[in-house]
This record gives sequence, structure tokens and C-alpha cells, in this order.
Amino acid sequence: MQETCPACGFRIAHPLYHPEPQPLAALNLPRSGEAAREALRFPMDFHVCAFCGHIFNRQFDYYRIPYEEDSNLMYNRGALWQDHMGRLVDLLVDEYDMRGKTLVDIGCGDGLFFQKLLQRAPECRCVGFEPGIEADNARRAGLEVYKDYFHPQRDLKRLRPDVLVCRHVIEHLQCPRDLVGEIAYWCNRYELAPLFLAEVPRIDNAIEQGRLSDFLYEHVSNFTDYSFRTLFETTGYDVLELAPCYGDEVLVALVRPRLEPRLAAIGRSTATFRQRIAEQLREVGRQLDALVEQGRSVAFWGATGKGAAFLNAFGVDGRRFPVVVDSDEQKAGRFVPGTGQEIRPPDYLRDHPADVIVITTRWRAKDIFDEIRRRQVRCDEALVLEAGRLQPYLGEDAWANEPSLRIEGPHPGGLKPASRRRAGRLV
Ligand SMILES: [Zn+2]
Repeated sequence: MQETCPACGFRIAHPLYHPEPQPLAALNLPRSGEAAREALRFPMDFHVCAFCGHIFNRQFDYYRIPYEEDSNLMYNRGALWQDHMGRLVDLLVDEYDMRGKTLVDIGCGDGLFFQKLLQRAPECRCVGFEPGIEADNARRAGLEVYKDYFHPQRDLKRLRPDVLVCRHVIEHLQCPRDLVGEIAYWCNRYELAPLFLAEVPRIDNAIEQGRLSDFLYEHVSNFTDYSFRTLFETTGYDVLELAPCYGDEVLVALVRPRLEPRLAAIGRSTATFRQRIAEQLREVGRQLDALVEQGRSVAFWGATGKGAAFLNAFGVDGRRFPVVVDSDEQKAGRFVPGTGQEIRPPDYLRDHPADVIVITTRWRAKDIFDEIRRRQVRCDEALVLEAGRLQPYLGEDAWANEPSLRIEGPHPGGLKPASRRRAGRLV
């Protein structure tokens, strides 16, 4: 079941065309009349994405199609079709100066496109990927072909292509955003910015002319100009050119992955965080053990939400650390999920002072610290998690420099802008 739009990921869609289940239209052609009449039928329920206009079969299931058993070749010997491919070859060789470069064709079929390209620019290295039986034909034609799917992480690294070609493949994929998004991602990781020539059938004419014959089970996706553009723009590409070709019946896009330092930064900060939390768990665990060994009484302030997450993450069990308070007195008498301490109101600490108060909710540390002072709760020190360990709370410059929120016009209730903002943040 295809719940979201394959092109943009949007969930709302309008019903468009819901025929009886249909046989495969191009693949596994039956070898007898009887077999044809008894051919397996597949559910078709085409919807239009309410955001980008993409048309897709909600009932599509890629794994029900026996691609490995038969050829999926489209008939491509027509004269005008040959001309169309010739123009694409000219575009790559002349306009984008791809002589002598490395090109990869994802789903190259029998390799006809690269045969044409090599006739124009024999010094190019052309590598095809084709998991179907057409790969054998392409090899017989002398092309360098892997009988396999294209794996962006593996194949971009080893081939470092200048051009990617992917023609009449994307409309068959259950999750085209996965393929094009992964290509953009791994190009970023390997600092590659290949030209990417993508081609799909164009559905706009079929919609305008009310054609039903364009809807095939094999085509889960039916691209419009806008949905094809959206597919690339929302998965990390700059669209250089996008145009209807071959009598406006196909769409050709020339796109390039955007190289964004952000992607590498996300990877680095994630690795750093993972390393830091491993160290932090060890260090805070050691500090808590030391407090117990020293015989100091410890209370934890902040019992639910991020407080509960803190207590659970650091193994603050009720046996060693029975005292947990919370600023919200309505939570008193309930228990901390996971670790089991009864939640006490703040004034509990006035009657049962602790040597050490650990503030569990770092983002509310200043408020809690102010509350400890206001309620005249005694303790030797108030600790907070800072730079990977529990440290005495020293106040925060950030609050002193809190910018005021500029609000034009009168302020209802006479509140100053800064107060309004602060009240909003804490609710
Ligand atoms: Zn969409």
C-alpha cells in the first residue's frame, strides 16, 4: 500500500481512477491465449497527490512484479525515438562537454543509449547497471555492464561518475525518493556533483486528453512536470533543465546534487554526541557512586518528562536515591516512571534537607535554582549536568542577555515584550 506520494511524500491525495484489477501490460507476455486470459491481475487505484499533482497507484507492490523472469524492454527502435535519444547524446557531449568522462546508466536495459553515446564519444567510459536479463544483451554489445542494482554508497565511491543517466526506471520504483535521495546524499559524502540525466513518461497529455491507456500496473508513478521537479528539489538537487520531449510524452530532467556542508556536519555532530554520551554515562555513574560512598544525602529535583528521562538514563534507582521532588506540587504522591521514587513537593526538602540537590532538567536549571533559593531550601551544593559531568550550578549568562521580543503596537495587559516571551517559553 502506497500511503504517501512517491514524488513529494505528501499524504493527502484525490482519488482519480480505480479500475478492476488489471494484468501486467508489458512484462511476462503470455505464450498462449489461455494463459493470457488467466493472467494474474493486480490492483489499480490511482490517486493524485493534493500537493504536487503526482499520480500514483496506491495499491502498487513492487515485489509482486517478476522483473527477474522476463525482459522489461520498451520498444525503442522507432525513428523519432532514435532521434530523441540522439538529441540527448548531443546534449551531453556538446552542451555539457562530456567527452572523455565517466558515465553511469542506472537501469541501462540493453545498453542502446550508451551504444549511441560511444559512437559520438568513444573515449568516454560508460558503465551500465541492469539487474534484468537485458544485461546480457548489453554485454554482448561490448558494454561494461554490471548485472546488478545500482547501490549509491558502493558504486558512486568506486566509479566517481561525471554523469548519471536513469531513463524509464524511476516510474517503476515504489520509493523513488529513496534512490534519488541516496544518490544526492552519497554524492555529498564523496564530494561528487555529477550531472544527472533522468527521464520518465509524462502524464500531463494523458490527463488533458482523458486517456486511460497510460495507466499501467508497472508504472506506480506517473509524473507531471511539477511532480518530477518536486522529486528532485526536495531530495537535494538543483534542477538545471526540465523539459517535455518526444511530442511532450516524456520528461527529461538535468539535475545536479547540491553539495551541502550541512550533511557532513550532521554526521560529525552525531558521531561526537554518541562518543560524548558514552563518556557521560560512565562519568555521571561514577559521580553518583562516589556520593553514595561518601554517605552524602542526595535529592533530585525534576521528576517527570526530561527529569524522568535523566533519572532512568543514569540509573538513579529508588534504593540508593529515594528522594525526588518536583516543582509541580500536583505531581506529589505519584511515582517516577521506571525508577519508582515517590514524587515529593519542593517543601519536603525544607523538612528533610539534603546535602546535595541534583537538578535533573538542564533546560529549567535557572528556574529551579531560583526556586531553591526562594523557598530557602538548604543544601551544600546544587549540581547540574554540564559538559558531561555533574557540576555546581553557576548561573547562566544566556539569561542575562535574553533579547527582548519586538512587538509592534500596544502590549495587551501592560506586559513588557520580554516578559511575554519568557512566559510563553515556559508554558
Ligand atoms: Zn506529491
